[in-house]
Amino acid sequence: MKNLVKNFLIFFLVFLIIASLFSILSNGSKIETVGLETLISQINAEQVSQVEVRGAEMKITLIDGGQETVKKETGESFSELLKNFNVEAGKIAKIKIEVKENEGLDFWLSAILPFLIPFLLIGVFIYFMMKSVAGANSKAMMFGQSQAREFGQDQKNKITFADVAGAKEAKEELKEVVEFLKHPKKFYELGARIPRGVLLLGSPGTGKTLMARAVAGEAGVPFFHISGSEFVEMFVGVGASRVRDLFKRAKKNAPCILFIDEIDAVGRRRGSGLGGSHDEREQTLNQILVEMDGFEVHTNVIVIAATNRPDVLDPALLRPGRFDRRVVIDEPDMKDREEILKVHARQKPLAKEVSLRRIAERTPGFSGADLANLLNEAAILAARRNKKMIEMDELFESIEKVMMGPERRSRVITEKEKKITAYHEAGHAIVAHFLPHTDPIQKISIIARGQAGGYTLKLPTEDKHMHTKSEFVEELAVLLAGHAAEKEIFGEVTTGATSDLRRATALARQLITDYGMSENLGPRTYGEKEEMIFLGREIHEQRDYSEKIAEQIDKEISHFIEQAVKEAKRIIVSEKENLEKVVLALLEKETLEKEEFEKIVGEKERKE
Ligand code: ADP
Ligand code: MG
Ligand code: ZN
Repeated sequence: MKNLVKNFLIFFLVFLIIASLFSILSNGSKIETVGLETLISQINAEQVSQVEVRGAEMKITLIDGGQETVKKETGESFSELLKNFNVEAGKIAKIKIEVKENEGLDFWLSAILPFLIPFLLIGVFIYFMMKSVAGANSKAMMFGQSQAREFGQDQKNKITFADVAGAKEAKEELKEVVEFLKHPKKFYELGARIPRGVLLLGSPGTGKTLMARAVAGEAGVPFFHISGSEFVEMFVGVGASRVRDLFKRAKKNAPCILFIDEIDAVGRRRGSGLGGSHDEREQTLNQILVEMDGFEVHTNVIVIAATNRPDVLDPALLRPGRFDRRVVIDEPDMKDREEILKVHARQKPLAKEVSLRRIAERTPGFSGADLANLLNEAAILAARRNKKMIEMDELFESIEKVMMGPERRSRVITEKEKKITAYHEAGHAIVAHFLPHTDPIQKISIIARGQAGGYTLKLPTEDKHMHTKSEFVEELAVLLAGHAAEKEIFGEVTTGATSDLRRATALARQLITDYGMSENLGPRTYGEKEEMIFLGREIHEQRDYSEKIAEQIDKEISHFIEQAVKEAKRIIVSEKENLEKVVLALLEKETLEKEEFEKIVGEKERKE
């Protein structure tokens, strides 16, 4: 539509130009036109010195220097005309008469243009119409081509291993790939087969995409980036044709890296779904496999794919000769987190007292993307406070913001609600504090943040990869402590504990069905977590146990929860004095930091 308007404007402009040109050519001179009688009377009065005849037009020059034009009939000659008017021969002799052929550009233009212009305009119009139709056509032809973005290796936005902090083992493994790309001959000569596919595994935000670009940057080769979901279109066959096109482009540019992000979008186990869209996905996946098998020995294209769901990938993808190298990118530990922070702090002015190490300590479970986001939030906060540097305050605040969403101070709560929230959060904190295996309290707040009415932050003192049953059982008690405190103090509970209860129930179920931590049900898992997608929704879990076991699981969940509530209640009753003190402090200050909290309840005693 926009195109049509544009074409029309151009068309109109051309028209205007031609029209104005025409008008300039036709009346270039501003000479007066007079009638024949005037001319005859002027001749009779001997005022005319020269007559120039050009077709039907006569240019008259008068003796006093004046000029005029006179029209006559085309067929009639000037001398005949004079004769018809009975002009005396003597008077005619005094006039200089010149007869000119009708010729020159002027004449031809004026003769032809009136016929030509319509044709010209129609031609121009048709030309533009054709052009826009052809544009639409070629767009339709592009549909089956891959939309991979190519990143050349210009110096400006080149990414190298130096931009990827931490992940030492992954880098070590990928250095091999860089070697293959840089010096393939070395390997051929020893008869080694160059790996074709590398699969990067890691949770979202751990830097898989970044790492793949860094490999290309280190090797100095082009990088083709496409996301698995881009293969999947409404139309059948598009995915496969895009794969073909993509591999063709890559082979033309070898050596290079072809990066398929989020490959699980097409690489899910085949035949595990319901509904028709899977045929299309299977075709796409098959085409990827075919292309990878079809690489000639010396084709120096390395396919890197990334996923955070290796469990759902089709086994055929993982076969030797395909994605046989797997590189795991772990969640960053404390040291890695500090380094990632350092990488992202490079272009941000930090105040002198800022210790990125302390931020790293406080952010277990943060991914690289979270950390990048944290620093960005801190910079925004500092700017809003008109600071020239980012200080520790902003960084700490951003941790909470990234974790739970922004503070909502504006939410109006009544005194009563505030009091209930204070008891609820103090309940969590006290129970966590007096249980031996839980993490120390970092912060308690009764300011709403994100979805939560208030929050209690516990932070581990170190990164942990394994958890014991006692830790989980205590965690359950902490989760239920808010609920227990409300019940103990006010005699009834509010809706504020809803999400706590949901999380507690899910955790109890996990203890039994995934971790085998229930004495009664024994060390086995219950339920097959198979993924299927039906109408866009994931249906989890296939039951691999009987109805009777299901009943037992339900009972066991209730049992775990009952025990946890009992434990929480016990602590709340026995530490009621401390609870009241914490509530008072919370009502006064709204947030308590670790130090303030420990001033009230004493330092945490911890058992390992
Ligand atoms: P993924 O692909 O694993 O989901 P990305 O590679 O897209 O994650 O990472 C998102 C962002 O997080 C990156 O652009 C980068 O800013 C940051 N990031 C993640 N991991 C690291 C890291 N190890 N070092 C530096 N920055 C990182
Ligand atoms: Mg990614
Ligand atoms: Zn709670």
